Amino acid sequence: MDTIRAEYIWIDGTQPTARMRSKTKVMPKNEEPPVWGFDGSSTNQAPGDKSDCVLKPVYTVKDPVRGGDNLLVLCEVMLVDGSPHPSNTRAACVATAEKYAAAESWFGIEQEYTFFEGTTPLGWPERGFPGPQGPYYCGVGADEVFGRPVVEAHMDACMRAGIAISGINAEVMPGQWEFQIGPAGPVECSDMLWMARWLLYRIGEDFGVNATLDAKPVKGDWNGAGAHTNFSTKAMREAYEPCIAACEALGKKAALHVANYGHNIEARLTGLHETCSYKEFRYGVSDRGASIRIPWQVAKDGKGYIEDRRPNANCDPYVVTRLIVDTVCSAT
Ligand code: ADP
Ligand code: MN
Ligand code: MN
Ligand code: MN
Repeated sequence: MDTIRAEYIWIDGTQPTARMRSKTKVMPKNEEPPVWGFDGSSTNQAPGDKSDCVLKPVYTVKDPVRGGDNLLVLCEVMLVDGSPHPSNTRAACVATAEKYAAAESWFGIEQEYTFFEGTTPLGWPERGFPGPQGPYYCGVGADEVFGRPVVEAHMDACMRAGIAISGINAEVMPGQWEFQIGPAGPVECSDMLWMARWLLYRIGEDFGVNATLDAKPVKGDWNGAGAHTNFSTKAMREAYEPCIAACEALGKKAALHVANYGHNIEARLTGLHETCSYKEFRYGVSDRGASIRIPWQVAKDGKGYIEDRRPNANCDPYVVTRLIVDTVCSAT
């Protein structure tokens, strides 16, 4: 019998920010990956005396790391009674996406992250600091850019897996990078983002570097790491007024959104470093100091999408996309 390796991937119950876990199942080729299980007492998802948690496959791609017919299998975590585990944020995202399916929501998420080698960001001196921010964003050259081979390998892996990665760029802080996923529906974009995060960690292993989604990996005059979330409905892609209405709706629930956009958001949304303070809400055309930016092209075309700049790099995209769909679509 021909067998393959299926890497089952899930999101654990660690607070305040969940971690990713995975383990391998050797299984027959050309079969659907079956429901599986794991020890929830080792992942902050169950007490030791009731440790069994269930893995329900929801998004499967070809494994670009192992190659061949091997698979990566993203799962939802379920309780043994078949209901979603409390740590499972995808189930609610699916419900909201279905409720407002007629709006045809699309998301494009810009995932920023920082490479670390040991205790310092990649490319930083062991003591002290690199030169101040300025040349690093979209830079080129070994004095400005650190970790490009990892970034290239990750982008290539995402493409071979069929993940809708739409680009990469070096970021403002040295050692910091970004990749973008989308546009795609709320659940699809979030599934692909989680899968792309797992691939980033996994590929980092081969290079001896570790990617962190910490929202403020270095204190002081260094940019934090966000996950700008670009959003449109069919109506927004056809006219300008719904883009403004979406901004207005998001403004009415600003506190709810900020509270659910990732751990330590107060440290990142300071009002400096291309952010708007978490205590304020404003939107504007081309404004990188606003909570929500309307890209100039969108203002010019009179239609398109908006960019919610508030989500942290360490946000849960199932939560962020669910909240945006719910807030915007329930208001219009
Ligand atoms: P920025 O200029 O803020 O750095 P990026 O180019 O990094 O923007 O990311 C823009 C993201 O927006 C991409 O992922 C892209 O796929 C996504 N996007 C483009 N059009 C739409 C749309 N109509 N709705 C939602 N997302 C979109
Ligand atoms: Mn970007
Ligand atoms: Mn960026
Ligand atoms: Mn952006």
